Amino acid sequence: MKHSQDLQKFDTKLFAQQNQQLQLQTPVTDFPRLVEAADSWPISAQSVVYWQLNGFVKKTTVDQEQIWLELKASVHIPLTCQKCLEACDNLLSVDRQFRFVKDEATALRDDDDCEEDLLVFDRLFNISELLEDELLMEIPLIPVHETCPKPLVPQTDDQALEPEPSPFAVLAQLKDKSKP
Ligand SMILES: [Zn+2]
Repeated sequence: MKHSQDLQKFDTKLFAQQNQQLQLQTPVTDFPRLVEAADSWPISAQSVVYWQLNGFVKKTTVDQEQIWLELKASVHIPLTCQKCLEACDNLLSVDRQFRFVKDEATALRDDDDCEEDLLVFDRLFNISELLEDELLMEIPLIPVHETCPKPLVPQTDDQALEPEPSPFAVLAQLKDKSKP
């Protein structure tokens, strides 16, 4: 999809002041940290992040302009199911509002008092990185299938190499030891 702005050097202020909206589809493979989160499960080139940006300004009581950005996004990525260790599909979705503040001190001071997330204003902001950060935060701590496709088998690889001695083998050893 065509858009005029560089998403890694995004002019948030202009975007907000012009009340702009942007709808994008970006291949998952453009986000290396998301690809890494998917372990080694294949991600097809058709797999995309759907996202939408809305910029707007709010006037404060002291007639200052606040820069706001709304970010909505969704993507399906494969993660390792912690039950069966096969790939399980996960829908990550983001719906957040950000307000840009002038510095870190303001962000720290105001953060507890508001619902929105605060970001330190940068004239050229990396929107792609913000999107990736937000999606990564949506990854479940313990991804699992709702229903695993294969019946669960206990992890017997180690045991298979060293089978439990049969009771008869144990008896045989006892017999040997009892020999003079
Ligand atoms: Zn599973």
